[in-house]
Amino acid sequence: MKLASAVDLTPFNTLALPGKAARYLKISDPAQLTDPALKDEQRFILGGGSNLVLTGDFAGLLLHMAIPGKRLLQEDDEAWYIEAGAGENWHDFVQWTLAQGWPGLENLSLIPGTVGAAPIQNIGAYGLEVGECFHSLSAWDFEKQAFTTVDRQACRFAYRDSLFKQQGWHLSGRMAIVSVVFRLAKAWQPNIRYTDVAQELAAREIAAPTPQEIANAIIAVRQRKLPDPAQIPNTGSFFHNPVVSAAEAERLAADFPNLPRYPQPDGRVKLAAGWLIEQAGWKGKNLGPVGMYEKQALVLVNRGGANGDDVKRTMAAVQAEVRARFAVALTPEPMFL
Ligand code: NAP
Repeated sequence: MKLASAVDLTPFNTLALPGKAARYLKISDPAQLTDPALKDEQRFILGGGSNLVLTGDFAGLLLHMAIPGKRLLQEDDEAWYIEAGAGENWHDFVQWTLAQGWPGLENLSLIPGTVGAAPIQNIGAYGLEVGECFHSLSAWDFEKQAFTTVDRQACRFAYRDSLFKQQGWHLSGRMAIVSVVFRLAKAWQPNIRYTDVAQELAAREIAAPTPQEIANAIIAVRQRKLPDPAQIPNTGSFFHNPVVSAAEAERLAADFPNLPRYPQPDGRVKLAAGWLIEQAGWKGKNLGPVGMYEKQALVLVNRGGANGDDVKRTMAAVQAEVRARFAVALTPEPMFL
């Protein structure tokens, strides 16, 4: 197996941060992963690079997941089971399922990244998390030197979180996801409770939307609010929405009556990180070449020529100002390498 060396990773991360991988291998077939030469390498497994902050050069082996393929695996009275390769582009995959007449993933339209990365942080948008439509995944386990299947329960999906993130799985490169099976229920219900989506459909005078119409509305909303990484490098939402105790939310609401609050099933309350950042004066503000986007303060953007240190500096400044104003801690959503 021939590994490339000193490969520039700038084109492979959507923040366009500079850095080189000492060794690099593009994986377009799961069989490549079984080569024993890869076992003892320090590894990092990369998908679309849309949830990554590259802090400099990486001294190990970067495996770039590009496994293709998508097909209907099986169908029963209740659901379609769709399998896709880890390297498939997420948005293209969602649009393909809709074109086949298999609804369910429409709310996750236009999320950047790959199919294989979707379960890692349990991507979510507009009231839907991918874990809700997930059946199982297949991965190569470097420790056991075997392919393994991980079912939905074992993934321990939580809010923008899964087993894979909790155990530092990514940074240790223990397993490489090669394919994912989705379970799309035939009893489809529109999920249009987020204001932006409802308003967009109302503006289009659509009262009973089809899955494709919901996807189209979400694509339009996202294109208006979020920067295209090809034009303005970014990683989408940069901070998690903080979830605080009900007492803490009440304390904040007394001082800030407009504070958006979303009660959670466990009694805690989700706050909107973008709102906190905006109130702290960071919407459209830059520190050096890195700032927070002018149309959505939750998105950290590279204005050109930034490196990992620039990102860390702006991140720390935003966290400090939100903490000073609201006594709320913001944690970053992307992974740092
Ligand atoms: P928004 O509509 O301006 O709303 C701000 C925040 O309030 C959102 O983060 C959302 O939480 C919450 N929210 C709004 N309406 C809600 C409701 N009816 N019930 C519960 N929570 C509600 O948000 P936005 O920034 O434009 O993003 C729109 C959606 O795309 C959000 O769901 C966001 O998470 C998602 N998104 C996801 C990613 C990612 O997965 N990396 C990247 C960008 C955007 P939630 O975030 O919990 O939904």
